[in-house]
Amino acid sequence: MAVTSLVMVTAPTSAETLTGSGYEAADPNQPQLRVTDLSATRGDGVFETIGVMDCHVQSLTSHLHRLAASAAILDLPGPRLDVWRAAVEHALDRADPAPELSAKLVLSRGEEGSRRCTGWVRVAPAPDMSRARADGVRVLTLDRGYRSDVAETAPWLLQGAKYTSYAVNMAALRYARRHGADDVIFISSDGAVLEGPTASVLLRIGNTLVTPGTDQSILPGTTQDRAFRYAENAGLATQARRVEAAELATAEHLWLCSSVRLCAAVRELDGRELTWDRRLTADLLSWLRTTHD
Ligand code: PLP
Repeated sequence: MAVTSLVMVTAPTSAETLTGSGYEAADPNQPQLRVTDLSATRGDGVFETIGVMDCHVQSLTSHLHRLAASAAILDLPGPRLDVWRAAVEHALDRADPAPELSAKLVLSRGEEGSRRCTGWVRVAPAPDMSRARADGVRVLTLDRGYRSDVAETAPWLLQGAKYTSYAVNMAALRYARRHGADDVIFISSDGAVLEGPTASVLLRIGNTLVTPGTDQSILPGTTQDRAFRYAENAGLATQARRVEAAELATAEHLWLCSSVRLCAAVRELDGRELTWDRRLTADLLSWLRTTHD
């Protein structure tokens, strides 16, 4: 057992020959990648980050399907989902149990010129999200610089795929932090609410939970999907649709949700304090943490 565990996926896609299980445990403290790996030199690969709550891997099937969808957008060969599933379980078995872990899956286009993808699963302690969950977060809205239909009009921009070039997303977070905020909600150039750099956006408008639809060139969120199931159980209606930026000002509550954070209420938007329902947030958090699928 180790605090962090690593499993290299030796047959990550249908393009590599499968010998044995298709994965093998590796030492997380030793170098494993070559400097010519395209995920390192070009950010050319896809990934997933999965929450592991009380030893349960949350929404594993949805994450594996999204990995395959992202790979298709990048014209990568189809990932062997049964191999990835077993590799995740193996990595989890080898890690010290903890109340909250995260599992990161990376599928890279592989070494330059090799035509063989590389892949790995790393399980590590999850970052501490307790403050954001308990006290909420301060958010800036920032221009994404794209129209909300960019996934259709310019598919080479890879919107809607979870690909390893997150430098722009990280730059947006640094910008927010320099300007006194914790996080970001991106707005499209045609005025639609999109997503955060690492989260989906959820609004409560009356008795309806609303999220920007996946036709808005954003990632389909697994946590948002589970939040909608919570809403249905709690007697709230749900809507995935285009959300106008102006609706952020009139919503009763706003949250950012993602696999490791679960959900954090937005307590300040562009410097303006928002009221937020601590009870509803606590209820949603507890549901997201304890309801397994
Ligand atoms: N949108 C973006 C851009 C993300 O990076 C993430 C997660 O990291 C999400 C949404 C939320 O997805 P999930 O709830 O599946 O973690």
